[in-house]
Amino acid sequence: MIKLPNKLKIGAHDVKICYPYQFKERIDFMAQCDNDADEIRINAHDPGSVERPEVNILVSLMHELYHRIDNVSGHHVFDDNEKAICGHTEMMVQVLLDNPEFVELFLQDNKELT
Ligand SMILES: [Zn+2]
Repeated sequence: MIKLPNKLKIGAHDVKICYPYQFKERIDFMAQCDNDADEIRINAHDPGSVERPEVNILVSLMHELYHRIDNVSGHHVFDDNEKAICGHTEMMVQVLLDNPEFVELFLQDNKELT
């Protein structure tokens, strides 16, 4: 099972990452962003109780991260456009996986960036 961070800092918010999360009322939920609770919840299993592939977990995290950023930033461009957010997040995960040298830019101890 992939290890995810316990929380992500998004603007002034510390967003708790609840993974693996067991949805009680909706077994078909793969992930959810609760803006009020400042939580992102991600199911480790599909509705058939099969463990989801790690890349799907990353796509779910990115998807819910986009929702939280959209809300925190106040832009709300994805509020009524699930199709767009799905397309963006799947592509963003693929770009990051395909370009590790780009990801490394964010790992450097570069005080000029912050
Ligand atoms: Zn969504």
